[in-house]
Amino acid sequence: MNIILLGPPGAGKGTQARILEDERGMVQLSTGDMLREARTSGTEMGQKVAAIMDAGQLVTDEIVIGLIEEKLQSTEGNGFIFDGFPRTLPQADALGELLKANGQGLNAVVAMQVDDEALVARITARSTCGNCGEVYNDQTKPQPANGKCSNCGASDFRRRADDNEESLKTRLMEYYKKTSPLLGYYYAKGDLRTVDGLGEIDAVKAEISGVLG
Ligand code: AMP
Repeated sequence: MNIILLGPPGAGKGTQARILEDERGMVQLSTGDMLREARTSGTEMGQKVAAIMDAGQLVTDEIVIGLIEEKLQSTEGNGFIFDGFPRTLPQADALGELLKANGQGLNAVVAMQVDDEALVARITARSTCGNCGEVYNDQTKPQPANGKCSNCGASDFRRRADDNEESLKTRLMEYYKKTSPLLGYYYAKGDLRTVDGLGEIDAVKAEISGVLG
């Protein structure tokens, strides 16, 4: 099964993708994670996109489509969860073609709905484990008092450079201008399933299971 998790920054796509990986053996393909990895490893492309990412703007379609193409060719798994990709109509077209070329398709596009006020609150409270990517939230899921990640035991908590109010405004604007048209695109294709992304992690998980079957 191949699915897209679609929603604004802070909707909880990464958290739910990790749950789907654990429970269904699916593979999360996050272009945000791939780009952050390229930055850390200091590749030319990573250096080129760093300022764009920190400002909250979208990097070019060409770069992210290239990253996804490479991963699709090199990754095996029980289906893919596309997280943060596609974010534009040309990316959506490209994904359809890449999957088709591999004899595959999309089974569902899960739209995660969260209101804007909640997104700002979530994102400014967010941190992750630098080792395994476990996501924490200062209010709802604080970092463990012993300073060690509850998933892997590492002590390397990080906040993303773009998780601040200024960059978030740009990220939200990019979402509404360039990504939200994908809701109509996938609705018209008959792939869209909408879930309420505002609830507790387990409630959202149950809703997603309900629409995926
Ligand atoms: P994310 O981790 O999905 O929030 O992505 C972090 C940042 O990486 C975004 O704000 C963009 O600058 C960039 N990015 C990630 N995925 C894409 C994409 N599909 N298209 C363009 N830019 C992306």
